Amino acid sequence: MAINEMTGVCKNYRLGKTEVKALSDVTVSIEEGDFISIAGPSGSGKTTMLNMLGCLDKPTSGSIAFMKNNINEMKPGQLADIRNAHIGFVFQSFNLIPVLTAFENVEFPLILQKNKNVEERAKHVNEILDEVGIGELKHRRPSDMSGGQQQRVAIARALVKNPKLVLADEPTANLDSKTGENILKLMLEINKSHKTTFVFSTHDPMVMNFAKRLIKLHDGQIASDEKR
Ligand code: ADP
Ligand code: MG
Repeated sequence: MAINEMTGVCKNYRLGKTEVKALSDVTVSIEEGDFISIAGPSGSGKTTMLNMLGCLDKPTSGSIAFMKNNINEMKPGQLADIRNAHIGFVFQSFNLIPVLTAFENVEFPLILQKNKNVEERAKHVNEILDEVGIGELKHRRPSDMSGGQQQRVAIARALVKNPKLVLADEPTANLDSKTGENILKLMLEINKSHKTTFVFSTHDPMVMNFAKRLIKLHDGQIASDEKR
């Protein structure tokens, strides 16, 4: 099944009197189980494309269907419902809540979801923290963890609701290359074991090499899209 189908998507941003064409006529289908890298230089439209894939924003023109739901006609609350139910996000700068421990950061989305009790939450959170390899650090706050450890917490937080799709915007940009490689290996393992679909952006050739499908962006257009 297609997770997200974009057809002829354009996204323009208005900057004062000028209009920036961030995406032009992008047609792509993200399939269940994909492990995709969106690659391109800074300004090529990677973040804009992830925002579109993640139902964070609507296109200027063209259509987007997320699991067959037409995004174009949705209200902000409906988009939020789709994101909450199906999509996990990982960011370049980790974006953890500084006053919460690793455990609490990962538990937080489940508290908002309100459908698990304390014990169920703890069991699930502990399992995921173990899976991403930081079970023993779960009582630490982000400031007491390395960048790689923080990104593992962020991945656990993205996974905790068992999403269909995880979007990661330059997830290794603030990590050294060895740590970045380990983060990619972890995402690939989860892609294999949970069948979670991953789309991550990068401009780093080492990171692109992990992708099973590589989509290259150039000036907001898809320059190539190939299985590897
Ligand atoms: P990338 O993530 O590949 O660096 P972006 O998607 O962030 O690319 O940006 C694509 C283009 O759109 C760039 O020219 C950028 O300056 C512009 N852009 C992105 N977001 C905005 C915004 N909110 N307002 C105005 N211009 C934007
Ligand atoms: Mg970007």
